[in-house]
Amino acid sequence: MEISFEGKRALVTGAGQGIGRETVKKLASCGAKVVALSRTPEHLQSLTVEVPSLETICVDLADWDATRKAIQCVGPIDCLVNNAAVALLESFMEITPANIDRSFNVNVKSVINVSQVVAKSMIDRKLGGAIVNVSSQASQAALADHTVYCGTKGALDMVSKVMALELGPYQIRVNCVNPTVVMTAMGKIGWSKPGKAEPMLKKIPLGRFAEVHEVVDAILFLLSDKAAMINGATLPIDGGFLAC
Ligand code: NDP
Repeated sequence: MEISFEGKRALVTGAGQGIGRETVKKLASCGAKVVALSRTPEHLQSLTVEVPSLETICVDLADWDATRKAIQCVGPIDCLVNNAAVALLESFMEITPANIDRSFNVNVKSVINVSQVVAKSMIDRKLGGAIVNVSSQASQAALADHTVYCGTKGALDMVSKVMALELGPYQIRVNCVNPTVVMTAMGKIGWSKPGKAEPMLKKIPLGRFAEVHEVVDAILFLLSDKAAMINGATLPIDGGFLAC
């Protein structure tokens, strides 16, 4: 299936590493002009070497005002990928207010913040658009030490559905992808310790974790015209984990 983003502009958050970085590269290779937003300047600099046409925004998404200011002048965006997140893992009894605030600020509030600015411009241009929010299997399944992370991703699924409801009449589609473990920097935090990966792998019918490109392909599909009637979906990329 040929997917082209010729003539489109895309904004990807959390573009410095992992799934966001590969999404930027794939979108650019499919013809999109991409704006990459992330937190660490060095990651954006090295990405610009790989994708010379890239525009970059360096901001901490946990800061609502700084983020709004940074993306206010981003220009017309046709495709938005809200990918950035943090996974601050701790057992339920150890959860701190600081980690709750940080997690919800980055994983949920920033999605609303960035999407408000981008959707306003999409509505004004009357050309519609597509938004993909990167959620997780953790939105729908309990994972030990993931209370706050699961809470943010559960919230993100529902935020996305209401966005789909309210933005749909403007021909703006909003969907989630919900991957299982991917061995990025974040994936390694939760699953690389001895004894962690095996029990999770046993619960995945396909018997393996997801590859970055498998998540990226689903994001591009949902952004594309091939998904023109898909709105408000949460798409597991989990080898069947959530089906069991
Ligand atoms: P990584 O940790 O590899 O990358 C996360 C990216 O988000 C980094 O580029 C980082 O910026 C950026 N980021 C984090 N916090 C901020 C912030 N406050 N402001 C701006 N940018 C920020 O994660 P993944 O690629 O693995 O995860 C991407 C998405 O996929 C997340 O939403 C995650 O929840 C989801 N997911 C991941 C899974 C996994 O196992 N890896 C499983 C299921 C879902 P920088 O590099 O510039 O510091």
